[in-house]
Amino acid sequence: MKYDEYPMLSVEEARDRILTHFQALEPETIPILKALNRVLAEDIVSDIDIPPLANTAMDGYAIRVEDVAEASAEKPVRLKVVADLAAGYVLDKPIQPGTAVRIMTGAPVPPGADAVAPFEHVEIDGDDVLIFKPYAKWKNIRHAGEDVKKGQLVLTRGTVLRPQEIGMLAALGIPSVRVHRRPRVAVLSTGDEVIDVSDPWQPGKIRDANGYSVSALILKYGGIPVRLGIAPDTIEALTTKIREALAQNVDFILTSGGVSMGDFDVVKKVLASEGEMHFWRARMKPGKPMAFGEIQGVPLLGLPGNPVSSMISFELFARPAILTMLGKKKLAKPTIDAILVDPIQRKDNRRHYLRVWLEQKDGETFAHLTGDQGSGILLSMVKADGLAIIPEELNSTPPHFPVKVMMLDWPEIGD
Ligand code: AMP
Ligand code: MG
Repeated sequence: MKYDEYPMLSVEEARDRILTHFQALEPETIPILKALNRVLAEDIVSDIDIPPLANTAMDGYAIRVEDVAEASAEKPVRLKVVADLAAGYVLDKPIQPGTAVRIMTGAPVPPGADAVAPFEHVEIDGDDVLIFKPYAKWKNIRHAGEDVKKGQLVLTRGTVLRPQEIGMLAALGIPSVRVHRRPRVAVLSTGDEVIDVSDPWQPGKIRDANGYSVSALILKYGGIPVRLGIAPDTIEALTTKIREALAQNVDFILTSGGVSMGDFDVVKKVLASEGEMHFWRARMKPGKPMAFGEIQGVPLLGLPGNPVSSMISFELFARPAILTMLGKKKLAKPTIDAILVDPIQRKDNRRHYLRVWLEQKDGETFAHLTGDQGSGILLSMVKADGLAIIPEELNSTPPHFPVKVMMLDWPEIGD
């Protein structure tokens, strides 16, 4: 099939076709603190009660409610303090009528005690404590198993582990868990003109921005970048690098550059000769020229060369693929409603992703263009909070037009 015979896909069609080639990777068992943002590959059932024993929620005196039923401000009940109990220790002996135990928050209540009178509501008189009011049964006592019951299904397979889930696993006494493994993603920049960040500059050359922005995106979304460096624009060089990637057991290959119609755009040729190209081009801007296929069963996404295009194509196509391999189900990038302050004129029937910064004023969110929207203007990404989406069918939008903004990050808001 000739290149121009491939249909140009919508962003959604391209993403859906890409995602049919990905699934959650096999599980591995890792320590819980390493499992932050990973996806559980097992159900977690508690084999203990949390808390394990009834304990006091306040610093105070463990008492028997029966003893203080008649207590009042005028006629306080006097109880003999027979012990002092810190958190971490237990008293096995039941408390006797007419006695109390001084007890610290978290300490298990002694057998027989059925309420705790907080320090601020009692008075001390020598070895005794004076109680000025009756207490309801179990006042200020946390019951065994009130948080989690033995046998309870606490976390289900597919849960993304946040700090609270990590804390819960620790509370359950589970030091390591089964989670889907992280994908290894090869990153390869292409172009005779591209040199690495530390290479001496020479006329005609540019530094490899994409190799780093794409590796950083892989890290950000939970993958492991496998950096292959830069391949010049020859079929041999690119083929060698891709074979190198395959030898390193990667799950996904990302290239940048070399996918448009120029004479040196070799990614599509290598995809076709070494494997299969499934499609190329999506109806979007920036980032129309991208290619997707596979080589020896490993999916390859050819990102465009322009630094902004490669990042936006990554967000739309590579990010959901990586999240899927991690076992994640929620793939939609968070979007918010905003008012695009600047008017837009264009006539290409493509989905535009405009780089914007956001401002909150009078209860509304305003989106402002970050400047020149050229696909090589990386500074417009540096300044951006999100991407304002202009639907295909709109050729122009007036000032103050309502848009959806895909958040690049979801930052804390306010000063
Ligand atoms: P291409 O898609 O290979 O035609 O590249 C499109 C534009 O992106 C050209 O101006 C390239 O010089 C530039 N470009 C390609 N790869 C990179 C890269 N890794 N870092 C920065 N710019 C790049
Ligand atoms: Mg190139």
